Amino acid sequence: MLRFTDEHIAFQEVPGEVSLAYTIAGCPLGCKGCHSSYSWHSGQGTALTSSYLQQRLQTYQDLISCVLFLGGEWQPQTLLPLLIMVRRAGLNSCLYTGLDDVNPALKQQLTYLKTGRWLAERGGLNSPDTNQVFTDLRTGQCLNPLFIQ
Ligand code: SF4
Repeated sequence: MLRFTDEHIAFQEVPGEVSLAYTIAGCPLGCKGCHSSYSWHSGQGTALTSSYLQQRLQTYQDLISCVLFLGGEWQPQTLLPLLIMVRRAGLNSCLYTGLDDVNPALKQQLTYLKTGRWLAERGGLNSPDTNQVFTDLRTGQCLNPLFIQ
C-alpha cells in the first residue's frame, strides 16, 4: 500500500496543469540534501487507497487537470491502478522519480515523467545544468526549457 505525507494543489511542478499532488512516503533513494527527507519512512501518513483517490477526484472535479505523484514508483503494482483511475477520470498524470527510468507499464499510463535524483551541485528543473529531465510521454518531448525563467 502506498501512503502520502502531503496532499496539495500544485501549479508549477507540471507546466500548464493544475495538479492534485501527493508526496508519497517511503522514497528509498536517500539523496543528499533531499527537500522532503521527512517523508522517507514508509509507514507514516495517510493510505492512498483507490477509494480515497476516487473520492478526491470527485471532490476536485473540474478544478484540476492532472494528478501528480511525487514518488511511488517503488510499488509499481500499487501505483499502476491509481494511474489507470486518473486516466479514466479524463485527467493527465505525472510522476516525479529520482530514478533514471521506471517500469514501462507505468509509463504507458503516465502523461508526464520527471526523472533523475537530486544532485545539489546540478540543481533542479529550473537549472540549465540539471541532471533531471521532464518529459511529455505523449510526444517524447523534453519540457525542461519551460522550467527555466
Ligand atoms: S528521489 Fe526525491 S524524495 Fe527521494 S531522496 Fe531523492 S530528492 Fe528525496
